[in-house]
Amino acid sequence: MRSISIFGATGSIGESTFDLVMRAPETYRTVALTGGRNIARLAEMAIALRAELAVTAYDDCLPALREALAGTKIEVAGGEAAIAEAADRPADWVMSGIVGAAGLVPGMRALRHGGTLALANKESLVTAGPLLMETARAHGATILPVDSEHSAVFQALTGEDAACVERVIITASGGPFRNWSAERIANATLAEAVAHPSWSMGQRISIDSASMFNKALELIETREYFGISPDKIEVLVHPQSIVHALVGFCDGGIMAHLGPADMRHAIGFALHWPGRGDVPVERLNLAQIGKLEFQDPDIAKFPALRIARDVMEARGLHGAAFNAAKEIALDHFIAGSLAFPRMAAIVEETLSRMNGLGRTAANLDDVLEVDASARRVATSIAGGR
Ligand code: NDP
Ligand code: MG
Repeated sequence: MRSISIFGATGSIGESTFDLVMRAPETYRTVALTGGRNIARLAEMAIALRAELAVTAYDDCLPALREALAGTKIEVAGGEAAIAEAADRPADWVMSGIVGAAGLVPGMRALRHGGTLALANKESLVTAGPLLMETARAHGATILPVDSEHSAVFQALTGEDAACVERVIITASGGPFRNWSAERIANATLAEAVAHPSWSMGQRISIDSASMFNKALELIETREYFGISPDKIEVLVHPQSIVHALVGFCDGGIMAHLGPADMRHAIGFALHWPGRGDVPVERLNLAQIGKLEFQDPDIAKFPALRIARDVMEARGLHGAAFNAAKEIALDHFIAGSLAFPRMAAIVEETLSRMNGLGRTAANLDDVLEVDASARRVATSIAGGR
């Protein structure tokens, strides 16, 4: 029986993971499930999977979790440290599905057991790519990408000679503002930004898709996970979200990965790897879809892509500052105190105000320090100081 833990169980990725696991619950032993404020759902999932431990990220939610699980044998805990401690409990397969930089520490700690980390939390690679990959190597752990584009690249690369890879192309739906003018984007509301045309995802990644900060993070993620130089990584806008990535080889051939816009494919791939198992996603009917369109992204309208290129080249601690500033800018947009295009401006200004980002992170503390100071800088810029 395989032991599993799901970090971010109550989120969009967590729900999809839960759905797959619940189709064959007798084959898994659930070590830990973690969530945030959605205590009712966390408790329900913990009971359904007979988890050993359920953790909320927030201390103030712990009494409610304790009450919801009273009378069961499930242990409960709360707070950031408790989430990290949950990752210290060995599991063969761990889903890293927390949103934001908060996913970094638990993912890093889980790698120390040498199992498989199914990595949806792209922020881990953006903020601390080299440390994460090195930790996996040092402990004999496997990181499998769950982001759909990166799962697609991984699948297209299987059995191939990395030296023959000429280019990696990740696709982007273009988000809800693909055909909007810059003037219209300037006044975009939260509801408009969250309304993703092809994927159903958490609120934060949906807005990041509208600003293309999601694709910006994914460029960096591609660079860090596959070790491919930035000049070989491209973004292609593909509104149908059917082709998730393409890999071009030195003989001119291109391997494309196609699938429905359903994260259960990439999660299922990571769950069944190195083999393949049945995954209950819709089967594509290409004749019905009819046409697949591709176009270059509009960098002027979506400056996040340009900023990401600089971060990819510069590496060091730039990714940690970039992500932290983006998270703060996003908080302000969600709170209604920032216009949509100001998010990119805040990220760019934060990076330009910070010194010493070129150095390589020696350890996790270096990354967490830069994350904290970038949050302070971005907060003061957003507040007009
Ligand atoms: P959601 O917002 O739907 O879920 C986030 C999860 O993390 C929830 O369980 C939430 O708890 C929990 N959480 C929130 N804040 C914290 C915190 N500070 N500490 C610990 N846990 C916390 O996000 P998604 O599922 O959409 O995304 C998760 C990750 O996967 C992100 O990194 C995203 O970029 C990546 N990803 C997502 C895709 C998708 O389709 N959704 C596709 C590709 C990548 P609660 O809800 O209970 O408060
Ligand atoms: Mg993606």
